[in-house]
Amino acid sequence: MRWWNTYRLLTTMTERLQWSPEEIARYRLWKLKNLLEYTYFNSPFYRRFYDQHSVHPDQIKSEADLKLLPILEKKHLQENDPLEIVTNPADEDDDRRPDWRIEVTSGSTGEPLTIYRTWRDLYYIKAKIIRAFRQTGFHFYDRQAVLKSSTESLTGRHWFERFGILRKYWLSVTDPPGYNLRRLQEIRPQHLHGYPSGLLSIAELLLEHKQTFSIPVICTGAEVLGPTVRREISEAFRAEIFDLYGVREVGNIAWECSAHEGMHINDDAIILELLDENGNEVSAGEEGEIVVTYLDAIEFPFIRYRLGDRAVRMGGNCPCGSSFNRLKNITGRSDARIKLPSGKWISGLVFQELRTAPWVSAFRIIQEDTTSIKLQVVPKASLNPVELDALVARTSELARGELKVVPEVLSKLECDKSGKIRAVICRLPDQNGMQSETDYGEDA
Ligand SMILES: [Zn+2]
Repeated sequence: MRWWNTYRLLTTMTERLQWSPEEIARYRLWKLKNLLEYTYFNSPFYRRFYDQHSVHPDQIKSEADLKLLPILEKKHLQENDPLEIVTNPADEDDDRRPDWRIEVTSGSTGEPLTIYRTWRDLYYIKAKIIRAFRQTGFHFYDRQAVLKSSTESLTGRHWFERFGILRKYWLSVTDPPGYNLRRLQEIRPQHLHGYPSGLLSIAELLLEHKQTFSIPVICTGAEVLGPTVRREISEAFRAEIFDLYGVREVGNIAWECSAHEGMHINDDAIILELLDENGNEVSAGEEGEIVVTYLDAIEFPFIRYRLGDRAVRMGGNCPCGSSFNRLKNITGRSDARIKLPSGKWISGLVFQELRTAPWVSAFRIIQEDTTSIKLQVVPKASLNPVELDALVARTSELARGELKVVPEVLSKLECDKSGKIRAVICRLPDQNGMQSETDYGEDA
């Protein structure tokens, strides 16, 4: 009855959308204090981390006091044993040890991050994304198609899908757009969720043939959605577009409502700080770096976690009536895309699978011209030339055979100025207004 729990959560979460700013603030502070105390006393890593910075949860009396806590970087989570981070570090043969769902994210950084989740944490993540979908007009009986880099579902198929509830059809951006279009025509989804670049390649195919194929609602995510791309996708699918913002670590963070004026932050689940270079909160209309505290994850906490993305805060009230705060837009995401000689763009996310080669420690793809890409790779141990050749061939395949792949074997990948190691970097000059979306964060 796991999904019953998600449904119950969803109901209470949906009610909160009508809360007043005061109610939200009270609830958040209560959650925050509980989270900090619980984490400090139960997670060996966090306790050490806060002791080293001479800070104690008792000092956090308001949200503004959050600034007293050090910022958690991805490398902190990568360098420490996940069982030191979790708040229930019981031994393997201890009955109190939860049934962990271990998730290894390759993300966009090329360096893996291991997250331990429990079913409890998964219900919260699931309920949060369904709430966001519901605000886009999604119904439980809708056929929903998902276009992502992997066709693997995090939680597998559910029994209720047989009864037509929350039916999901998985499509992969690594498949050719023509194939995906045929699949969509068979499925006839009422709701489609996918990467902008993947959706765009199908939209371009339709528009090239002066065709459209109607899908009422399309949700985009994982890449910055530019106005041109948005318009093309909307035109080709005659769809209402809703952009979502989320990351693997904490799930959905913000969603667009039917007013289409910015994205509402999940204020009841996430404290989102937007910080300038001195660590101070930026004002409405200004851009800052996103740092999140996820109030619902008590077993693998994310407290003041730097995402490496940048966004602009929005002021004023939303016509939809929700008092949840808004982001005007996400200005930089860690994912990028690659341009093919044909002028088409492919999502940088399709290259994520390179990370799954067992001998690869890290990789990066850099595009500096329209005919080739550089594949930087850091092997775990000694390098086998046959394996390298296979990786080059696979990279070329993922780039639809249109680009020459030049391998470069390194002992370490240097991070960029913002401290990130981005797996895909496009350094082509501005074309179709896409540059700001592919290269963001580089100079930020
Ligand atoms: Zn709204």
